[in-house]
Amino acid sequence: MVILLKDKSLVSSWQMFFEENCKSEIETVALSYPEKRSIFVDYWDIDRADAEIAELLITQPVKAMFNAEEALKLIDVCVEQNLLLHFRVVNLPDLHKIIIRHIRSNHLGMLKAVEGLVKKRTEVRPKLQLAAFQCNKCGAIMQIEQDEDILKEPSECYEDKGGCGRVSSFKLSTNLSKFIDSQKIEIQENPEGLRGGAQPERISVFLEDDLVGEIAPGDRVIVNGLLRSLQRRRGTFRLTSFDKVIDANSIENQQMAFEEVDISPEDEEEILQASKDEKIYLKIRESMAPTIYGMELEKEALVLQLFGGLSKKMPDGTYIRGDIHSLFVGDPGTAKSQMLNYMSKLAPRSIYASGKASSAAGLTAAAVRDEFGEGQWTLEAGALVLADMGIACIDEIDKMSEQDRSSLHQAMEQQEISIAKAGINATLKSRCAVLAAANPKLGRFDDFMPISEQINMPPALLSRFDLIFSIQDKPSRERDTNLASHILNTHKAGEMVENIEKTEHSTHSKEESDELLKPVIPTFSPEFLRKYVAYAKRNVFPVMENDAMRLIKEYYVDLRNQSDESIPFTPRQLEAFVRLTEASARVRLSDVATIKDAKRSIHIINEYLKRVGMDKETGRFDIDIIATGSSHSQQQRMRSILDVIKRICDDSKDGTAGRSEIITEAEAIGLPSENVSSALDKMKRNGQIYEPSHGKYRLTSD
Ligand code: ADP
Ligand code: MG
Repeated sequence: MVILLKDKSLVSSWQMFFEENCKSEIETVALSYPEKRSIFVDYWDIDRADAEIAELLITQPVKAMFNAEEALKLIDVCVEQNLLLHFRVVNLPDLHKIIIRHIRSNHLGMLKAVEGLVKKRTEVRPKLQLAAFQCNKCGAIMQIEQDEDILKEPSECYEDKGGCGRVSSFKLSTNLSKFIDSQKIEIQENPEGLRGGAQPERISVFLEDDLVGEIAPGDRVIVNGLLRSLQRRRGTFRLTSFDKVIDANSIENQQMAFEEVDISPEDEEEILQASKDEKIYLKIRESMAPTIYGMELEKEALVLQLFGGLSKKMPDGTYIRGDIHSLFVGDPGTAKSQMLNYMSKLAPRSIYASGKASSAAGLTAAAVRDEFGEGQWTLEAGALVLADMGIACIDEIDKMSEQDRSSLHQAMEQQEISIAKAGINATLKSRCAVLAAANPKLGRFDDFMPISEQINMPPALLSRFDLIFSIQDKPSRERDTNLASHILNTHKAGEMVENIEKTEHSTHSKEESDELLKPVIPTFSPEFLRKYVAYAKRNVFPVMENDAMRLIKEYYVDLRNQSDESIPFTPRQLEAFVRLTEASARVRLSDVATIKDAKRSIHIINEYLKRVGMDKETGRFDIDIIATGSSHSQQQRMRSILDVIKRICDDSKDGTAGRSEIITEAEAIGLPSENVSSALDKMKRNGQIYEPSHGKYRLTSD
């Protein structure tokens, strides 16, 4: 056991510090004691007042903190009201910040600030602080302080503590013991700090007393605490290897998004200057993944997604998201994954995850029971929670698990995830934009099949996306030539750079490689763009002009009324217009969303609908294709065919309808035979009809 000798001179140094610097704070805390029982002190305040004790906090934290708490007991109010306050220090110097993967054994015992993203959290549970044991022989009560994870029992009934002095067995009396709240969380490295595709490392953090219950998975925190080792166990054996853990002294929660992005006054000037450029949209678009050739429309949409619309809270308590969700569905090898990867590095607070990743929390969040919780349930955050206030880039979203499918709706629309399972009852925030990619079910995209049939995703989920882009890889001499030159040139430039760097007498020059690299150098560097976006999201909240609203309204009403019986467009899409329009205004750092912004959003949605929402037979937009998988005219046709089948079945002896008979009857009511054929196949796939014997059909229901 560590024996902490009270150091009189140290206590008085602390006492002087508290009296001179923290008097009013201590008095405030005293007023709401015991709900509040911690004094938070800025490290730099200590340093300014008494550099010696500040230094001691770093070099001998245990001793320094013990004596600080002793000194707190001597402050007048604490003496008068008998208060026991915690001393907690925040804002440690950068020198003592450390990233998780750099923690080594020589850091153990030190006070460090560790930054991270909260991945898991156990329930709050009581932990023994002072255990009361009753001697089974004489009945005396021994109190044993518990300062380790393993229960310390008395080895005999100590005579000097009033016991019988015999070796005895003891009974733990929980009623007479003292407990403290404790909680364990796991933090992982912030994705920004990770080098290309590295898996984030994690560390467990122990929270005690009033620190518990404040932190939720998905939070960005700085944990200030003591690095400690924890002995590993295998069953009852204790091993010689240890785990590193942190005993938290204080936690700083970084609430605001984009807080991490520092914008200096010079940056601000540069940002304002850039925003006045007429070509700002083009310049930003050109800065998005310049190694990827083409895809101008997709990149433009990504720019808007990066800036995002405005989230709103209505007086009736409803919440309308401002984040723009987009989905890329496309042929293999069309740079979808590469684009997502790029975006996840560009956008602050974003997470790249694959739909088929096997983490228990999946894409949203889950209550899990694993080693971390030591038998208890743990709340674990998935990608959408970890990307709170950023962008969740989800590749191969079509391969996600059943559980994710059901929880993704809520996560995308309400932007929160509720978990109620095994005593865990929590709501986690998922205020992120989703950028997802999916491959077509059949490997390649089929122009003549509705999009919802081509992606392995429920239509209701598809309708949560503001934009769905289908990306097709069709041979075209012109595009292929340009794409090939683009890719080959980038490779050649890369080769030259390597050649110049790694060989002694290179025949290539830097000018040569620079020339080739030109097309892939972004107009704005990712660092600048990040600052620009952060600035816009922090400071710009545009309001739509009446003209802009009128334009959107007209377009919407027009689309819906292109044909009187079909309903081609839902109010959900109307919200997409608004979000895109707001985002477009934000790009210019404008407080007004004008008719130009409305036009930009209409242009993008128009293009998207042209590719995926067009009814190939009538040439009309039809959002039913996305929502239900069939266009309105297709649905109507299928209903007529079902009627025909039913009639034939009712009339026939064996209750089935032959294929040729159906086609003939359907032709009689004006349906072309090839359409009937494909509809029959489709209905069979859907399970609306089945084929008991070859060429004979029966309805599944009735
Ligand atoms: P997907 O995820 O769509 O299957 P990937 O992102 O894995 O495709 O891309 C496959 C490869 O093809 C990548 O190396 C990418 O660089 C290249 N590629 C595909 N399309 C383009 C493009 N338009 N411009 C540049 N490279 C491309
Ligand atoms: Mg891919």
